[in-house]
Amino acid sequence: MSTHMPAITSENTFLPFGDQRNAPFYGKDILSVKQFNRSDLDYIFGVAHEMRVMVERIGTFDLLKGKILANLFYEPSTRTSSSFTAAMERLGGSVIPINEVRYSSVSKGESLPDTVRTLECYADVIVLRHPDVGASKLAAQYARKPIINAGDGVGEHPTQALLDLLTIVEELHQVDGLSVTMLGDLKYGRTVHSLARLLSLYNVQLHYVSPEILRMPKEIIDEINKKGIQQKEHVDLDSALSETDVLYVTRVQKERFSALDEYERVKDAFVIDLDTMSRAKSRMIVMHPLPRVSEISIEVDADPRAAYFRQMEYGLYVRMALLAMVLGKS
Ligand code: ASP
Repeated sequence: MSTHMPAITSENTFLPFGDQRNAPFYGKDILSVKQFNRSDLDYIFGVAHEMRVMVERIGTFDLLKGKILANLFYEPSTRTSSSFTAAMERLGGSVIPINEVRYSSVSKGESLPDTVRTLECYADVIVLRHPDVGASKLAAQYARKPIINAGDGVGEHPTQALLDLLTIVEELHQVDGLSVTMLGDLKYGRTVHSLARLLSLYNVQLHYVSPEILRMPKEIIDEINKKGIQQKEHVDLDSALSETDVLYVTRVQKERFSALDEYERVKDAFVIDLDTMSRAKSRMIVMHPLPRVSEISIEVDADPRAAYFRQMEYGLYVRMALLAMVLGKS
């Protein structure tokens, strides 16, 4: 990772689109949020902003014309897969969609390394979602083309964390000084694993609210502690709500439970409703990576502080930025 990347400031706006093979992310994999520093994030958000302007002005443009993305999903997806498709198509490129690996040679027993070595013969970049932690890293060891991690089991979801952070920046215009409360399934939720790590680059306070069996993994808490970030675990939301600026709600990840009765016991442990909202800061935002099951009641959707539908749109711009960057076009 280059350390020579310019921060995006008003004096130093990022270079216009074009061939920039010396650009810091050209040819790089996006595997974990651990690979980013604050100036990387400024750079990515600067490019994402330009993408938003272009989409609003002209919708689709030819920055990645002739480039092909392979979207390889071994687990279900609605937003990540379709936003990468939309991102590639808005940039004039095309997509090989492999959303149902059971119809591909994976069902014949093909290994992940062989599948990515196949797809990179046809595509310029591979977006991979897989149930195993570390799958993207493994794929990247075999692939010559960039691999973008779209979720590796209970590990990480770096592109989601980038869009989550962009949502916070766009909605609250600051990250330093915020109190962020993560609620729900902090054990299996890969989005909170990535977001907590990314937020630890800023001066934030982190609150974790979860059932006992779904606490934030100790290794993540230890990792973030080393950065000097204040973290506090809670058994109920009330003890954190009044100081919360960002309430990040997650779904209990049913598919990760080996015993369904355990899932049933905790699935409705926390539900955000109008009563919760009435006790929260007037400037707080509620986020959720979606899909939502029952953890945010639908009456909350009409509250202007509900940011979860706006959050998805930021994902399009972030993913357009990442594709352009790894393919050397910004
Ligand atoms: N869509 C997110 C993910 O893939 C969150 C979720 O599934 O609950 O991790």
